[in-house]
Amino acid sequence: MQDRSGVMEKLASLGKRKGFIFRSSEIYGGLGSTWDYGPLGVELKRTVTERWWTDVVAKREDVVGMDAAILMNPKVWEASGHVDSFQDPLVECGQCRRRFRQDHVEGDVCPECGGPLSEPRMFNLMFKTFIGPLEDEGSVAYLRPETAQGIFVNFRNVQEASRQKIPFGIAQIGKAFRNEITVGNFTFRSREFEQMELEWFCHPDEAGQWFEYWLQARFDWYISLGVAREHLRLRPHEPDELAHYAKVCQDIEYEFPFGWSELEGIADRGTYDLDQHLELSGKDIRYLDPNTHERYVPVVIESSGGIDRTVLTLLADAYDEDEVEGEERMLLRFAPHIAPIKAAVFPLVKREEMPETARRIVEELRARAWNVLYDEGGSIGRRYRRMDEVGTPFCITVDGQTAEDQTVTVRDRDTLVQERVSIDSLAGHLSERLNP
Ligand code: ATP
Repeated sequence: MQDRSGVMEKLASLGKRKGFIFRSSEIYGGLGSTWDYGPLGVELKRTVTERWWTDVVAKREDVVGMDAAILMNPKVWEASGHVDSFQDPLVECGQCRRRFRQDHVEGDVCPECGGPLSEPRMFNLMFKTFIGPLEDEGSVAYLRPETAQGIFVNFRNVQEASRQKIPFGIAQIGKAFRNEITVGNFTFRSREFEQMELEWFCHPDEAGQWFEYWLQARFDWYISLGVAREHLRLRPHEPDELAHYAKVCQDIEYEFPFGWSELEGIADRGTYDLDQHLELSGKDIRYLDPNTHERYVPVVIESSGGIDRTVLTLLADAYDEDEVEGEERMLLRFAPHIAPIKAAVFPLVKREEMPETARRIVEELRARAWNVLYDEGGSIGRRYRRMDEVGTPFCITVDGQTAEDQTVTVRDRDTLVQERVSIDSLAGHLSERLNP
């Protein structure tokens, strides 16, 4: 498909209609840039997190996981620099009162109404709350704006408990919160989102090579989800764009219909975070090399990706329109191993043994923990279209011939080819395609 303008609007409407993504608390008019995942959206999200955990943690001897609390001692955010530096320049239009991030607007007039913009004022992105009954300075706490600090403050705990030796990584998946000034582009910039972060601890002499290693590994990971290579690129940060903690950073970007935008950042954080925590906490959290007996602060190479942005990428990349037998078709071309519904089973008609046979097939396939649907409503063409719209790769139809020779048809969403497959070999047939 050539023209991708309008795709985000179509995805938002398809997302709601089919149960991928809803606006949060929609019946009350929603809440700015927070989102709820419906039955199909949560499947996609779980697939992303499970694949990340499998590839980054489970398959590797040198990475261990953890799960830190969202609320942390506020000293963490002082040490990390977030209290002082995690801020964006906010400008306000004197005419329509809309607010923007100064670095997101060109020139000094309002992009919406052309009114004059105010002088920028720095705005901290952390959500503030209070612990306990008193709302005073002493009880301030923040909702974490990144999961990484939970890893840094536990560096010593995890290293000693797991007996990992440098180089090794600590991985975490969890919610993060940012009071973003400008939001939009569907879920791309949300105020509550989920991160998947790997903090890789290495000797300072090896930082460069590990940075390159993780950059490549993480880029390839998006391709393994079925995202088109030509829609992905690496973009090094300009020096003035670097976060306060980073020495070098490259973004993995996806070409969304609204332009190239960040999916994940790979950064050399140097020894910044551990140095800061060492200083402010006064605890010696340095690493002791068991061979050389050298005590040092390791360098951190970070890979920080967003689950919501990955889900949005999968949706945007899969969205397509074509024509089948003179009729327009809207479809999601998810790779089979990513698709939220793996297959649907249809009785051609609601007669004879067809519904029973179809239900038996659904049960057998579900026993493999595949999300498989039964559908007997409407013409077979309509049932195919419904599944195309949610990206189901295979539709299985029980027809008149099934009773004679115990075969069904398996229709491929992309090629539209229908194969006859015996019921006995159906699970094996699908398994090959669902587990590349
Ligand atoms: P930006 O410059 O776009 O505000 P950032 O560079 O501050 O983003 P990072 O701090 O590098 O973002 O965050 C790491 C990852 O977390 C991002 O690559 C993205 O996938 C995810 N992320 C960050 N902010 C948001 C958000 N508001 N909504 C959804 N995902 C986010």
